Amino acid sequence: QAKMAGRNAVRFFDPSMQALATARADLEKDLRLALSQNQFKLYFQAQIYRNHQVVGAEALLRWQHPQRGLVSPLEFIALAEKTSLILPIGQCVLEAACTQLKQWEQHARSRQFRLAVNVSARQFRAADFVEQVRRTLDSHGVNPDLLELELTESLVLENINDTISKMHALREMGVRFSLDDFGTGYSSFSYLTQLPFDQLKIDRSFVHNIGIKTSDAVIVQTIIGMAHNLEIEVIAEGVETEAQRLFLEQHGCHACQGFLFSKPVPIDEFMAWSRRLPKC
Ligand code: C2E
Ligand code: MG
Ligand code: MG
Ligand code: MG
Repeated sequence: QAKMAGRNAVRFFDPSMQALATARADLEKDLRLALSQNQFKLYFQAQIYRNHQVVGAEALLRWQHPQRGLVSPLEFIALAEKTSLILPIGQCVLEAACTQLKQWEQHARSRQFRLAVNVSARQFRAADFVEQVRRTLDSHGVNPDLLELELTESLVLENINDTISKMHALREMGVRFSLDDFGTGYSSFSYLTQLPFDQLKIDRSFVHNIGIKTSDAVIVQTIIGMAHNLEIEVIAEGVETEAQRLFLEQHGCHACQGFLFSKPVPIDEFMAWSRRLPKC
């Protein structure tokens, strides 16, 4: 008995666990501070139609940390989810997205640009999520057709009834939906016909393997075919090479997003970049 307790005690004081707990507590404290000091910023990555016109952009969150510099969402979204800080952070992203959509609306060139926003599970499950989106769109006077929410398969399937009712309520308003990272999740396709998705987004792991791994190229073709059969749009993420772009175009993919066109950049850079594109 004593031996067991001793072992547990040793494990409790494991210095690496202690370090991890401290690092987490620090990060959480920093996240709270970041919210109150507006250290979050949206970057924009272009989405391009087959005919080379800009569809719009995906908004990708960045944290401008005073000491650590630009921090990737991969480093803080998970903790933000655990601590519920994702709720105010998500609201802040939605506000910034609507502010941007309103600005785009004021110029002929960008009037039709759509903006895609990533939504986390915790945020989507909040009882007032639909109302929050509605209120934010209303208060900015933004056309809901231009806002696209990106959901993942795991989020969608976690509580299918709640998903169906929220998606339909938002769709009714005009909000669009894209199924992010498609192909990596449960891939139980039966739910697709029940949900009002406007777009499938092919995960970049498959796009990366076009021309490298035949089975992944087949998956890409299959996803594109499925989207056509469901009569919804399909976009590929992580397009880095002309060969990938050509393959996607030849197989009927509607749009592309990736470093081949542009990295995620601050808004001024995004606007300057889009102005340099030829007019179609
Ligand atoms: P995601 O939604 O799948 O976003 C695509 C990720 O791929 C982005 O990483 C983007 O920078 C990266 N990417 C785009 N094109 C290429 C390419 O050609 N090559 C490669 N190697 N990568 C490319 P990022 O910005 O680090 O975001 C990571 C994830 O964090 C996102 O994955 C999304 O799940 C999450 N995220 C980002 N912003 C938000 C947000 O505002 N709210 C929530 N809840 N999650 C967010
Ligand atoms: Mg996304
Ligand atoms: Mg994605
Ligand atoms: Mg992805």
